[in-house]
Amino acid sequence: MNRARLQGVTKFLCVGAISADQGAKDAVRLAGNYSAIYASVGIHPHDADKFCDLEMFESLLSHPKVVAVGETGLDYFREWSDFKNQEVLFRNSIRTARAVKKPLIIHTRDATADTLRILKEENAQDVGGVVHCYGGSVETARELADINFIISFTGVLTFKNATSLAKVAATVPLENIMLETDCPYMAPVPFRGKDSEPAHVRLIAEKLAELRDISVEEVAEVTSANARRLFGILLNG
Ligand SMILES: [Zn+2]
Repeated sequence: MNRARLQGVTKFLCVGAISADQGAKDAVRLAGNYSAIYASVGIHPHDADKFCDLEMFESLLSHPKVVAVGETGLDYFREWSDFKNQEVLFRNSIRTARAVKKPLIIHTRDATADTLRILKEENAQDVGGVVHCYGGSVETARELADINFIISFTGVLTFKNATSLAKVAATVPLENIMLETDCPYMAPVPFRGKDSEPAHVRLIAEKLAELRDISVEEVAEVTSANARRLFGILLNG
């Protein structure tokens, strides 16, 4: 956290969606211990075949520092869980988000069409959200914006071979973009292949500024405002 602050990163969203319910518990505990840390609670599509204590999830969701439901979504790339179970879990997570009026953090891999269809069928527009670690097209980003979803870039944006992603990042309105690290994955250049950490978000902001030919301050201001608006985090809160 200290290294992050030195790079201008002052707020943290710890995504609690790994190892079934253990990640959620850990994220909420961190958020309870540090005023600068917020949490999300969700069941990752990788865990769709596992048992999860849904009552425990509902109680975690009522914690005042829990600002989103997720990661939730579909992963057809890894195939670590049954696709049908992923869909059931995804639909239930959207319904939960609507019931508690919190935005969604979406994980989608090789599943763009089904993700969009289910978001629409379940009226996810009412709560909106963010598609994290975005890897889609400009057209898909526009479709997502139409249903109240924004997209988020990780350190992948700094990779040399990420040319189509760079085009997307340069084209999509800045108001529809957020930045993230996806710690401990996707560390930006020059840390590629190592663990990423919140301080690295500055390197992603610098890359986006370069791609759009604007200042890093403008990138920081607008993407931070987008995150605060989406998650309901006040400037001084
Ligand atoms: Zn993810």
